[in-house]
Parts: sequence; C-alpha cells; structure tokens
Amino acid sequence: MAQQGRLINFNPGPAVLPLEVMKKAQAELLDLRGCGLSILETSHRSKDYEAVHNETIAKIRKLLGVGEEFRVLFMGGGASSQFAIVPMNYLTKDTSADYIITGAWGEKAVKEAKLHGKVNIAATTEDNKQYKRIPKQEELKLDPGAVYCHYTSNNTIFGSQWQYTPKAGVPLVCDMSSDFLSRPVSMPAHGIIYAGAQKNAGPAGVTIVLIHKDFLAKSREDIPIIFRYKTHDKDNSLYNTPPCFAIYLVNLVMDWILENDGLQGMKKRNEEKGKLLYGTIDKHPDFFRAPVAKDSRSLMNVVFRLPSEDLETKFVSEGKAARFIGLKGHRSVGGIRVSMYNAISPEDIARLVQFMEDFAKKNS
Ligand SMILES: *Cc1c(COP(=O)(O)O)cnc(C)c1O
Repeated sequence: MAQQGRLINFNPGPAVLPLEVMKKAQAELLDLRGCGLSILETSHRSKDYEAVHNETIAKIRKLLGVGEEFRVLFMGGGASSQFAIVPMNYLTKDTSADYIITGAWGEKAVKEAKLHGKVNIAATTEDNKQYKRIPKQEELKLDPGAVYCHYTSNNTIFGSQWQYTPKAGVPLVCDMSSDFLSRPVSMPAHGIIYAGAQKNAGPAGVTIVLIHKDFLAKSREDIPIIFRYKTHDKDNSLYNTPPCFAIYLVNLVMDWILENDGLQGMKKRNEEKGKLLYGTIDKHPDFFRAPVAKDSRSLMNVVFRLPSEDLETKFVSEGKAARFIGLKGHRSVGGIRVSMYNAISPEDIARLVQFMEDFAKKNS
C-alpha cells in the first residue's frame, strides 16, 4: 500500500520495491544485525557479510525449488553483460547457438553472440520494428547441434511474455530479468537463467545468474579470468568485491517473497493484477487497445494505446497528478506501459483501473 509521500511506482526498472523491505533496510542501515557497522561499510570478507551472501543464495534456491546442482552467482555489469558473457563462455567460431528473438533485448543478445560464434535465429516475431507475440513451439527452427538456445522470458519494452517453456533439446539460456521470481519456473530445462535485479528482485547493481553444474562444467577456460563462470563459482561470487548492498537488499526481497507464499503466491498476485488491468482494457475496446496477442500478454509490463497520442500525453500527465508515476511507454513503442512487478499490489492496480475508467468516460 502507498504511504504518504510515496508515489505508486510503475517504472520499468529500477522499479518499486516492497515497502516492508525498504523499512527493514532503513532500520538496519547504520548497524547490521548488531555488528556495529553498516552493510555499506562492511568487508565482503567479514562473517557478517558472508552470512547475508549465503542466506541470499539459499533463499533463491528455496524459491526456485532447486538444490546445489544449480549454482547461484552474483555478478556485475547488468543483464547486458550477460549478453556477452554467455557466448564468451560457450561459443567458438566453429560452434553455434540458437536465439529466439521476441524483442529489443533479444536483438542485443544476438549482436553480442555474433562476436563470438555462429548464431541461428530459431525464430523472430519482429514485424515492422514491432514485436507483438511469442512464437509457438512448432515455429521454432531449432538446430540440434546448438550449444544452447537463448530466449527472453518477458519482453519489458513490448509487453509480451512466454506462457510456456520452449523445448529446444539443448540447454536453455534465459534472460529472465523482468519476470524473475514472478512465477514458478521449469528449472530442469535450463542451463542458465540470468536476471538484472532491478526489475523484480532488488536494486540495480547485481546480476543474478543460476547455472546448472553440468552446463557450468562445459564453459570455456581460455577467456579472461574475470569473465569465466568457473571463476565466480569457484570463489562463491567472492573472487572480487560483489555489490554487497544490492545483494543484501535482494536477501530482504527474498524474505518478502517467502513470506508471501513464494512463487505460487507471486503468480496468484500477478494474475489477479493482470485480470484487473487487462479486464479494464478489454472492456473498452474503442478506447484502450492492447497491441500484444492475447496468448502472449505480459503480467509484468502491460502495454496499451489510447485513441490518440494527445490523449496518451494527457493520460500520463493526469496520471502523475493522481500520483501514478512511470506510465509512459518506451520511446520505441509509444503509448502507455504499466510495469507492475511483484511489489505492485492488487490495490495499486485497483486504483489505476478506477483512474482509467474515469479517464475513458471523460474523454470518449
Ligand atoms: C532491463 C533489461 C535488460 C538490461 O538490464 P541491465 O541490467 O540494464 O543491463 C536486459 N533484459 C531484459 C529483459 C530487461 O528487462
């Protein structure tokens, strides 16, 4: 629930964090668990920090229902670095990977992969610079010899999301930045899942990488040491200084998710919000128009258009006056985008849809 002074934050990332988490961090900021120092001042080699670090790993595993077979790494450089680090660790000029492109982030991942090896575009749903859907399994033109198959589970900019796990026959590598921990995941199909924390899991600064130990074993050792997955695994992500404060906040967010019924709880919460928001859009087809195919709609980033760009500008500015922030669509898509990550409550969305109803009535 909103607190006085705080806006309802629909920013796409960095994004809203649970209020309880922010309050906990505030209360502990000067003295972490009685150690006499702030987490901001603590050595990453200290017992106090290491406890936070290892708890965070354990909670991520617990939420995803995996054991030690999935290594959990904390890396820097954002999800964008993983676009390069994945192919660096797995491709050579003689080997190939499959890429499924469903939006702008996938395009960027392909550009990096091409610098290291061959890329087979297994599918792209690009249509006139727009991506409005997720491909069906039977559309995928997979290469049985691929080292891995990369996809983007949620398209933050275009507002689409995979509703099934693709079957590739080779390890899946997923950029899960914008829907990580928003619903249960079929883990065994994946070799790597990576996510910049700042959408759903915490603040900017840490990139969470889950990597299966068998897939890890196949990663290259003839690349710069700092970029090898094996380096970070061997030293439990303490090869160099990790983003301690960001990891600490992720730890608190993991507690919040666990307290709210884990990933099943998040799924239920996100479906409830989706029903409210898409329900309102569909109820007024002459006023609100969602460009993404119904079977591909995202529960994290909801993109829609109004009858004119003028009305969209008015919607954003009146929204601001009503204390809704971050409603403007990405510049490459236009229109409105409501990013409603885990920390956005159904009550927040109920307030937004009331605003939408009033706006449609006044402006129709
Ligand atoms: C935000 C985002 C990225 C980029 O993340 P950075 O941490 O800024 O590099 C990549 N992929 C997806 C799906 C995203 O939403």
